[in-house]
Amino acid sequence: MNDALPNPLAERLQALVRVLRRRRLDAALVFGEANIRSLVGVVSDNGCLVVTPSRVVFVTDFRYVPMAHRVAPWLETVELARGVTFAKAARKILGPVARLGYEGAIAASRYLSLQASFRGAKLVDVGDDVLSLRAVKTVDEIARIAAAEALNDEIWARARREFRAGMTEKDLQREIRAWMNALGDGEAFETIVCAGANAAECHHVPDGTVWRKGEPLLVDMGVKLDGVCSDMTRCLRPRGRSADAEYGRVYDLVLEANLAAIAAAKPGMTAGALDKVARDIISKAGYGPAFGHSLGHGVGYEIHELPTARPKDDTVLEPGMLVTIEPGVYLEGRLGVRIEDLVLITTTGCEVLSRSAK
Ligand code: ZN
Ligand code: ZN
Repeated sequence: MNDALPNPLAERLQALVRVLRRRRLDAALVFGEANIRSLVGVVSDNGCLVVTPSRVVFVTDFRYVPMAHRVAPWLETVELARGVTFAKAARKILGPVARLGYEGAIAASRYLSLQASFRGAKLVDVGDDVLSLRAVKTVDEIARIAAAEALNDEIWARARREFRAGMTEKDLQREIRAWMNALGDGEAFETIVCAGANAAECHHVPDGTVWRKGEPLLVDMGVKLDGVCSDMTRCLRPRGRSADAEYGRVYDLVLEANLAAIAAAKPGMTAGALDKVARDIISKAGYGPAFGHSLGHGVGYEIHELPTARPKDDTVLEPGMLVTIEPGVYLEGRLGVRIEDLVLITTTGCEVLSRSAK
């Protein structure tokens, strides 16, 4: 390693070394694209980061070597020879090891090649450890995610001006997608647009359903910007005498749960306790079974990261974590309401990054 040009993500890499020591591992191999990016800043969908307590080596194929040299000049980068597996290349770098960390979510074929190359070594799943390191964001990552969320707000405002009754869900989705491509780096996930009762499906796939005048609309959207994601859900609530009374009651309830969780979110509380704040409000009103998903999730290089705010989760919230607060109520065939904000856990509470009216 060349210490003259330090890794801006060195603290996270050091935390991984502490994991190795705690779990008595000789080394860990990291294959996940977002995991590699979060540890050394290099973007490659075909790489392996070999981490030991004293050495970090990035193995990647010919296509990514020059970029790795440019982005991370401090990093020892090794070109993967043609026809050689990452497991074999890592074995050559490490020599024999007794205990080797790997991400449990890797393909079975890769797991078998690790077994073959590290015969006799104990393979230990450190996938959750690596994901946990990503749960607390760096100052730079927070700034980028906040910028992505601000752009998401702007796109929502622009797209809404083009929305007209009579358009289909697909039309509305294309409108949002066009703004995301024009102003950002595209969608962080497939934009969800639900007209009327289609919102009862949490992850409805937009289709030819026409959005009729006076019907509610649910939009769950996130733009990708500078390598990171954003996430927000808003519901357009019909007003006036013809508006559905139950929809209005459910909307107010979900908003109350969303605001209560935002008011409660602070470092030191568990992700499960945060979920409970919102869930209790919805349950007391009799809609508990209609809130069938977790309150929220972390957001970063990927749309779903840790922490997960779900019942009984004992992850302690820390400053620098990002989590969505997205309670919802879904009544099959009738209606669906979800209100989602992305919040940053601060030293005293939380800061709401989503600014769109709700
Ligand atoms: Zn969302
Ligand atoms: Zn979400």
